[in-house]
Amino acid sequence: MALIVQKYGGSSVANVERIRAVAERVAKFKMLGHQVVVVLSAMSGETNRLIALAKQIQSTPDPRELDVMVSTGEQVTIALLAMALKDLGLKAKSYTGAQVRILTDNAFTKARILSIDESRMRADLDSGHVVVVAGFQGVDEQGNTTTLGRGGSDTTGVALAAALKADECQIYTDVDGVYTTDPRIVPEARRLKTITFEEMLEMASLGSKVLQIRSVEFAGKYKVKLRVLSSFQDEGDGTLITFEEDDNMEQAIISGIAFNRDEAKITVVGVPDHPGIAYQILGPVADANIDVDMIVQNVGHTNTTDFTFTVHRNDFAKAMDIVKVTAASIGAREVTGDDKIAKISIVGVGMRSHVGIARKMFETLSVENINLQMISTSEIKISVVVEDKYMELAVRALHQAFELDKATA
Ligand code: ASP
Ligand code: MG
Repeated sequence: MALIVQKYGGSSVANVERIRAVAERVAKFKMLGHQVVVVLSAMSGETNRLIALAKQIQSTPDPRELDVMVSTGEQVTIALLAMALKDLGLKAKSYTGAQVRILTDNAFTKARILSIDESRMRADLDSGHVVVVAGFQGVDEQGNTTTLGRGGSDTTGVALAAALKADECQIYTDVDGVYTTDPRIVPEARRLKTITFEEMLEMASLGSKVLQIRSVEFAGKYKVKLRVLSSFQDEGDGTLITFEEDDNMEQAIISGIAFNRDEAKITVVGVPDHPGIAYQILGPVADANIDVDMIVQNVGHTNTTDFTFTVHRNDFAKAMDIVKVTAASIGAREVTGDDKIAKISIVGVGMRSHVGIARKMFETLSVENINLQMISTSEIKISVVVEDKYMELAVRALHQAFELDKATA
C-alpha cells in the first residue's frame, strides 16, 4: 500500500465528464489498496475569467479581495470531485486550503507555504477516505485567504506530498510528460522517461510551462518523488523527476531545449569604465522591483565599456526609462533597447562531464547563420540570445544536432 498525491490541472477537470474521468482514475488507485490525496486546479479558463471580472471593477484589483475571489475556482472542482467519488461508492471529503490549514505568509496573490497541518488528512485517509484538497490556496496567520501564484496548484500538490511523506506525487496534465522541447515547434520532440531535478528546475525557469517552478523547488528541498503524466491517457509512465544521475543508464548529454520570447535587452553604450558601474546601472532597476536575467559587460578599452542586460518584456519600457536617467548621470554615451529577442537554452547534467558542448551549440547556430547577441552559461545550461525571428530555426537545428529525437537507453 502506498500513499499517493495526485494533482489534476485545469484541463483535467474542465467539465463534468472530465471530473468523472478523474474520479474513475482515483477509484482505480483506491482499488489497488493505495491511499489517495487529490489536489485540484480550477476548471480551465476559470481563474482567468475571475481575474478579468475583478479588472472590470478595479484595473489593479485589490490583492486581498482578488485572492478571496480566485480561490473560489478550486472550491467548485473539489466539491464536484468529492461528489463524483461518492457516486462511485467511495468515501471522500473535500477541503479548502484553510480547512486543511495550509498556512502561508500574507503575500496575497503570491503567498508562500509556511506549514501544513496533516492531522486531518491523515485521520481521513486512515478511515478509508479519499481526501480532495483545493490547490493554489492557503490561509495566513490572521485567517485571510491567500493564493500561491499562477500555476500554484502544482506547489500545493508537492507540498502536501512532502507533509504527508507520500510515496509519490503525480502531476496529471494534458501532456504525457516532459519533452525534450515543445513538440509544437519540433514534431520529433520526445518524451523523457526521466529528468533530473536540477534539469527540471532549469527547464521550468527557462520557460517550459509543464510545472510551476516553485513546485520543483519544493520537490527538491523535500525530496518528493515527482512524476508528470497525462490525464487523457490510461497508459504510460509519464516523466519521473529523479534526484541522482543514474550511472547505470546511458545518460544523454543534453536533456532538453528551452526557449522563450519573454525578454528584452537593454544596452548602455560607452560607459566610463570604473568600479561601481554595474551597481550604478542595476541598482535603480532592482529598486524598481524589476528582475534582471542575463548580464554581459564587455572588456573595457579606451576607458569605456558596453553593458548589456535583459529584463522581462513587460518591464522593458519602465527599465529603459530608469536606465536612461542613470546613463545621463554617469556620462554614458547612449542607451539602446531591443525587445525582438529570444532566449534559447540547452540543458543537461551531462555537460558536467563532457567537453565541447558549447562548441557544438555555437557551430550549429553558425551553420544556420544565426547571430548570437548574448551568451551565458551555468554548470548544466548554456543560453544564447538571438533575434526572435530565428528562434524556431535555432531550436530545430539544436534538437537535431544533439540528437534529441533519438531515444537513449
Ligand atoms: N487555477 C490556478 C491558475 O490557473 C492555479 C492552478 O491551476 O495551478 O493559475
Ligand atoms: Mg498548471
